[in-house]
Amino acid sequence: MEKIRMTTPLVEMDGDEMTRIIWKMIKDELLYPFIDLKTEYYDLGLPERERTKDQVTFDSAYAAQKYGVAVKCATITPNKQRVEEYNLTEMWKSPNGTIRAIMDGTVFRAPITIDAIKPVVRNWKKPITIARHAYGDVYKATEYRVPSAGKATLSFKGEDGTEFSKTIYDFECAGVLQGQYNKDTSIISFAHSCFKFAIDTKQDLWFSTKDTISKQYDQTFKLIFEEIYNNHYKDQFEKLGITYFYTLIDDAVARVIRSEGGYIWACKNYDGDVMSDMVSTAFGSLAMMTSVLVSPDGKFEYEAAHGTVTRHYYRYLKGEETSTNPMATIYAWSGALRKRGELDKLDELVSFANKLEEACIDTLNDGIMTKDLVGLVDEGFSATAVNTLDFIKAVRTRLETKL
Ligand code: NAP
Ligand code: MG
Repeated sequence: MEKIRMTTPLVEMDGDEMTRIIWKMIKDELLYPFIDLKTEYYDLGLPERERTKDQVTFDSAYAAQKYGVAVKCATITPNKQRVEEYNLTEMWKSPNGTIRAIMDGTVFRAPITIDAIKPVVRNWKKPITIARHAYGDVYKATEYRVPSAGKATLSFKGEDGTEFSKTIYDFECAGVLQGQYNKDTSIISFAHSCFKFAIDTKQDLWFSTKDTISKQYDQTFKLIFEEIYNNHYKDQFEKLGITYFYTLIDDAVARVIRSEGGYIWACKNYDGDVMSDMVSTAFGSLAMMTSVLVSPDGKFEYEAAHGTVTRHYYRYLKGEETSTNPMATIYAWSGALRKRGELDKLDELVSFANKLEEACIDTLNDGIMTKDLVGLVDEGFSATAVNTLDFIKAVRTRLETKL
């Protein structure tokens, strides 16, 4: 068979530990034999980040902006223990945080569903995609404990001299205080990313905040979304037959539970943090989630939602057999290849990405899965646990038949 050609390289961001091992297995077994794989390679593994003083992370993000499509392996975010383990000169920042800040994007996460694993919520028939605004609010808040009785005020001093101040509370005792912010520019980017992603995937978009209580802060989010929808996307939505729907966060939660799924749920930063864990757990596991960072100007970075699976890696280093689930990492590759194919009008590449995903689903439906999934399988289905490489090889067999 002749290998499928690519015209523009994918930006490849390699990573750490168990996912780095899986990364290579996927390339060797599922990509190189079938595609004339073109990538611009950046090693975001911790040793290379240390050697380049983290420059490699920045370079990879700039490359993603330049080429438009990147695929990223999970990476270690250093903490104190990692600084010792890897003999680091600095506690380098989270690569995901660095890339997100440069690309200014929104993270979209959706579960990969199979018949044998039923969502905990019985009426969920289609995936629910969470779009999380990954900037500001409580994650960038200033807070402290109020030691004793006293007056707390919220004040602003404009560059042009305007000043105003409001009383937050006249404390009669000790308490707590917090100041949050967000920026119009960031909310606008968030809104564009969500509307574009809804159009791209032809799904309805839901958005929820608590604007009845937060009459300035959350109201700003609501109004910006409304304005951008009416001025930029309404026609396209109507043409595609999809809808934009705004509701209060508590109403949204109730509706999500009663729904069939099959839409995108845009959430403010904190809501997205909490709800994406709820949704992913109810659908199965983090190893069965796709995750893509979409920038407001339409650049894509595909990744797995889980980490580097350190516990499995230490077992792997001892020569023990590991059964780590490669699904999310395979889907990062298929997502990136499909997007590259769409942008470069390479039908064969798009079709390959689709077949790769079908081969994964067929393998799981045949009852061949990694250990983490076997325990989740519903009554009436049978499943055998295999190690990571055997799972990938089973996918390869099915992929070869399809090609
Ligand atoms: P993790 O790597 O997601 O793993 C936590 C546990 O979840 C594993 O021990 C395993 O449970 C299970 N698990 C996760 N992915 C799995 C998979 N593909 N197949 C089977 N089981 C899976 O989280 P962590 O251990 O907290 O973090 C490890 C490192 O990853 C940290 O250094 C962190 O900084 C980094 N991290 C990176 C990213 C990213 O780059 N996107 C995200 C999160 C964390 P069992 O051990 O019970 O089998
Ligand atoms: Mg969380």
